Amino acid sequence: VQIDTLITARWIIPVEPERTVLEDHAIAVHKGRILEIIPQAIALTHYSANAIVDLPEHALIPGLINTHTHAAMSLFRGLADDLALMNWLTQHIWPAEQRWVSPDFVRDGTRHAIAEMIRGGTTCFNDMYFFPNQTAAVASEAGIRACVGLIVIDFPTAWASDTDAYFGKAAEVHDEYRQHPLIQTAFAPHAPYTVNDAALAKVAALAEELDLMIHMHVHETAHEVRTAYTDTGNSPLQRLQSLGLLSPRLQAVHMTQLTDREREQVAEHGVHVVHCPHSNMKLASGFCPIHALMQAGVNVALGTDGAASNNSLDMFAEMRSAALLAKAVSGDPTAVPAACALRMATLNGARALGIDALTGSLRTGKAADIVAVELGGLATQPIYDPISQLVYATNRDCVSDVWVAGQRLLQDHSLTTLDADPIKRRSTEWAMRIAEAKVAAD
Ligand SMILES: [Zn+2]
Repeated sequence: VQIDTLITARWIIPVEPERTVLEDHAIAVHKGRILEIIPQAIALTHYSANAIVDLPEHALIPGLINTHTHAAMSLFRGLADDLALMNWLTQHIWPAEQRWVSPDFVRDGTRHAIAEMIRGGTTCFNDMYFFPNQTAAVASEAGIRACVGLIVIDFPTAWASDTDAYFGKAAEVHDEYRQHPLIQTAFAPHAPYTVNDAALAKVAALAEELDLMIHMHVHETAHEVRTAYTDTGNSPLQRLQSLGLLSPRLQAVHMTQLTDREREQVAEHGVHVVHCPHSNMKLASGFCPIHALMQAGVNVALGTDGAASNNSLDMFAEMRSAALLAKAVSGDPTAVPAACALRMATLNGARALGIDALTGSLRTGKAADIVAVELGGLATQPIYDPISQLVYATNRDCVSDVWVAGQRLLQDHSLTTLDADPIKRRSTEWAMRIAEAKVAAD
């Protein structure tokens, strides 16, 4: 049987069923999909492939899904560090965005982020930023899967002047990418404290009508929850519930402040939680109780947040931190074992995005979104359990090859659809202008 690609590897970790490790198997890929996963010996006699990729020291895993980021913010990486969220946002990030964000800024920043993400084994990202049309265009050119957030926020930006304009632009981007094989859209109301009631109710209604997910920062800090109580007498979650936003459409990002009752409420409504451990630690926002949430049946996915608050888009680092932090926070060393952390970074992300029938695990019929991780190095040997190794001993530099929908975007550590040198040059040019203006303003 003639096929496009046959990938043979020492280990295949399909994520479904959990904790499964297939040894000396192969993945047959044809027309962007996984045709079959079978023992190498059988595969080599059964298939004739246009390309055979032999990875004798590698583990194949599903592509990692970064379920919360602001890709273009890679141009602000390191601009303002070691600050609390509201100070960081209002004194540094929002003024910089008002001054610098433009179609060019978003294109250049997003391209840099995508190059970094592909190198690190990310095959899909869930974005929230201005000019999502630019984000979508760059992702499409690079061949990476993306969900671009149709942002809604109460203040004017270069992208849109008022609430009506945000919704108008959202409709345009949604229509443009409705049929795209790699790009989908979601509503992205920024946060409870930056979007008014009428706009949130409209998001809920339109998401239902257009069958879209809703991507939002929720209960990120104690300050957010306290201020909401003072201003409205309700927690942000209560307000979202009264406006009809608590549903399986909602991807609630951060969720570091939750009472027991709120945890149950999130589970009852089927809300997805997106955990961003590095961003939460760096901004001292608090700890998302992911172990308790998962025990209550909540789907918990993983994200890096933007490079301005992390400061990297490294899903291997998030996986490891999520597994370690869950143990520290719950006082239970059995919380979030390695296989669970890997599922959070793959299948749970796909569920949160509503695309788990398409990606998130290595299964016949799913898209060939595949990452090869080289485990032959000193730091990853010897190997008792490859899943444990991936989470506790591997870093993103071990990623050697990446496929999205069967297209090889990383080949033996080299990008095939993007060129790193001009990307770095453009980012350096942006940083010089931004830093000069900052010095002048200070
Ligand atoms: Zn964020």
